Amino acid sequence: MININENYLKLENSYLFSTIAKKIEEYQENNPKTEIIKLGIGDVTLPIVPTVVNAVKTAMDEMGDVDKLMGYGPEQGYDFLRERIAKIDYEKKGINVTLDEIFVSDGSKSDTGNIGDIFSIANTVAITDPIYPVYLDTNIMAGRKIVYMPSTSENNFVPDLPEEKADMIYLCSPNNPTGEVLKKEELKVWVDYALENKSIILFDGAYESFITEDNIPHSIYEIERAKEVAIEFRSFSKTAGFTGLRCAYTVVPKELKAYTKSGKKVSINSLWNRRQTTKFNGVPYIIQKGAEAIYSDKGQKEIKDNISYYLENARIIREGLANAGYTVFGGINAPYIWLKVPDNLGSWEFFDKLLHEKGIVGTPGSGFGPNGEGYFRLTAFASRKNTIEAINRIKS
Ligand code: PLP
Repeated sequence: MININENYLKLENSYLFSTIAKKIEEYQENNPKTEIIKLGIGDVTLPIVPTVVNAVKTAMDEMGDVDKLMGYGPEQGYDFLRERIAKIDYEKKGINVTLDEIFVSDGSKSDTGNIGDIFSIANTVAITDPIYPVYLDTNIMAGRKIVYMPSTSENNFVPDLPEEKADMIYLCSPNNPTGEVLKKEELKVWVDYALENKSIILFDGAYESFITEDNIPHSIYEIERAKEVAIEFRSFSKTAGFTGLRCAYTVVPKELKAYTKSGKKVSINSLWNRRQTTKFNGVPYIIQKGAEAIYSDKGQKEIKDNISYYLENARIIREGLANAGYTVFGGINAPYIWLKVPDNLGSWEFFDKLLHEKGIVGTPGSGFGPNGEGYFRLTAFASRKNTIEAINRIKS
């Protein structure tokens, strides 16, 4: 008899986006003339920038040439891309990351989920709440014990250290869904905790390119000794609109060690390399060529223009809502605006109100965890016209 991994039965069904879709459909049927504005999606909407499009096309032409065909590539990613990452994302910012510490992948979703492969299921996992659901679900699948760290306006979205000792700690800054960030001194508390407790920090920097303020670390490695305790995830998805192309990378420092049950130190970099070379066959050459092109002067300018566009949308939403009397968070260093639901309404009640009275769609905070109840997420990824129109509707 074949048995299943029963941990999968412990997962809560995620009805969030299907419920939203159903509610939109119903509303539209009854109100065919209303133009619904969607500020709920967390996906990019601006086209891939020309420099990347051209690089991918050129790479594809190479693939059609018998002399230039690229077959299986290195599982860890091509050096041409890893060199750019090491130089521009790290060395230029005073951080030393070597090529063999960089693992190019098909996304931070996969990496933040798959990283658990190399850690014991006996580890306790600390997760901020509300949060990007992948960290939680993948650890439920593995059967690990989970402790939640509330992250709300009461603690300025800086979660307290867990009361119970945590071995694996997921941090995400800039944060999805709150749009808030951890400052250097706040992140240092976690690095110190991890050093003291021999824990590991899994730092998700998927929204790093949206940081606009000073004193906000772009990388956890800006904190002294963080290379001894932290893995960093970065993605081209939001940085350069790669949600459909799929390319990201994970930094696993050589200093980073974990322990066998008997207390022997083991290199995490070697384990992750072993895991990737066994279970992953690399990101397509043409996509890595596209990612490489982001680092050219022209590529950098183009992607920064797109990020500025989204950040301006975020400013319009944030300031518009604040002027209309809402309490708002995020939206300065992230494409997400997290607002406190007024009048003690629940997140879903507010969703219905906004849809029915204004024809606007957002995401109920409770969809990101119990401590998201009473909050609501709006995103900056809509067009400028629709963003302005949405705020005018809310104000009216
Ligand atoms: N991490 C966070 C916090 C996210 O919000 C997302 C996507 O929304 C991801 C990771 C996924 O990134 P990728 O597209 O690289 O899989």
